[in-house]
Amino acid sequence: MSLSLSLIGSKLSGKSGILELMDDLGKAMSQGGMLMLGGGNPASVPAMEKIWRTRMHEILQSGRDFEVMLGNYDTPQGRPKFISALVQLFNSQYGWNITEKNIAITNGSQSGFLFLFNMLAGEFANGMKKKILVPICPEYIGYADQGLCENLFLAGKPLIKEIAKHEFHYTVDFANLPVDESIAAIALSRPTNPTGNVMSDEEIEKLSKIAKDNKIFLCIDNAYGAPFPNAIFGKASQPWGDHIIHSFSLSKIGLPGARTGIIIANEEIAKAISSINAITSLANTNVAQEIVAPLISSGEIIELTKSAITPFYHERLLQAQEWCREFFPDNLPYSFHTCGGAFFLWLWCKDLPITSKELYERLKQRKTIVVPGNYFFFGMQEPWKHTDECIRMNYSQSPEVVKEGLKIVAEEVASAYGASALTC
Ligand code: PLP
Repeated sequence: MSLSLSLIGSKLSGKSGILELMDDLGKAMSQGGMLMLGGGNPASVPAMEKIWRTRMHEILQSGRDFEVMLGNYDTPQGRPKFISALVQLFNSQYGWNITEKNIAITNGSQSGFLFLFNMLAGEFANGMKKKILVPICPEYIGYADQGLCENLFLAGKPLIKEIAKHEFHYTVDFANLPVDESIAAIALSRPTNPTGNVMSDEEIEKLSKIAKDNKIFLCIDNAYGAPFPNAIFGKASQPWGDHIIHSFSLSKIGLPGARTGIIIANEEIAKAISSINAITSLANTNVAQEIVAPLISSGEIIELTKSAITPFYHERLLQAQEWCREFFPDNLPYSFHTCGGAFFLWLWCKDLPITSKELYERLKQRKTIVVPGNYFFFGMQEPWKHTDECIRMNYSQSPEVVKEGLKIVAEEVASAYGASALTC
């Protein structure tokens, strides 16, 4: 029998760039002996792993907590005691004035974004089509194929600011930001996957004002941000308002397998997400909510992330940057994006004679896996050479793997420039 699929069925089950890439990465990894700088897995942080183990023991030993955790469906909004703990934490940390009605839990923030983007943008009853504006591309690859209709995203081409000889920074090109009545929301990850960009408070304030003035939403994806996992190496304020939608995740504190995302938004949005939860999955996975709730109630999560997670990733970053300086020939026009958070190095090889996809293939031959940068430039309106000149590397895996991997990347980049190598 031949399979005939609806438009949405074809869209969700069809070929996507990310699916092809993940397949390819998976096949490469199954050959064994690979240096994996390509994935998005958080590192194993021993201090955090110890806490999860202790919490599981506590749950197992405390009355019927274990049976209740596994045996009951929660409300579609999430676990009430987890939600109340979040309300207290965010109000006390940031001076927000949220209540339980502002929160909805999802099965991972990935699902949260699928719901959000498709409920805010797409086709409307009056025939109007609205989009999600990504103010700086490159952005998180996981958004790219989430639209249930075509062309859900519109991306702003960033300005490139040179910070130092081998360092650059993307900033929002406010003068050319395409905001009009066809935009439903502005969305960004902060820190950004893939670049490690932490959009400045000033940029966020400007975007927030643009959103408010245009009566649209500003969605801030804090998967790596504050207050947890706090993989962020400077200060970044957390704004709040009726037009702001925050997303948080328990994945990068070390619980990606327990699939828990948190949406904090105005009551209507939070209620809509809860309703979608009921339709798509009845209730959320509650294991991580049960594990983490006491750490949120006591506020301990704040100190924990600051003492165990932030320094862990920061030290790994500094070490990786040192290796880059050692391995990359100084006369090549390569440049890394300023890394203010998350756990990726974003390398731009200006005027590279081959594409980043070709570089990826060459690196794969040498058992080193990175992610070619072109996947992160979705929603762009015009071709841009820069999109084929970048790669993303995860620096949080074991130091031996990262060191060897970076050495091979540096050799292949130098070899790709070859005789045509430019000097900076
Ligand atoms: N947002 C960003 C920027 C991410 O990098 C990821 C995962 O890597 C997610 C969201 C989704 O995370 P999760 O669904 O595990 O909460």
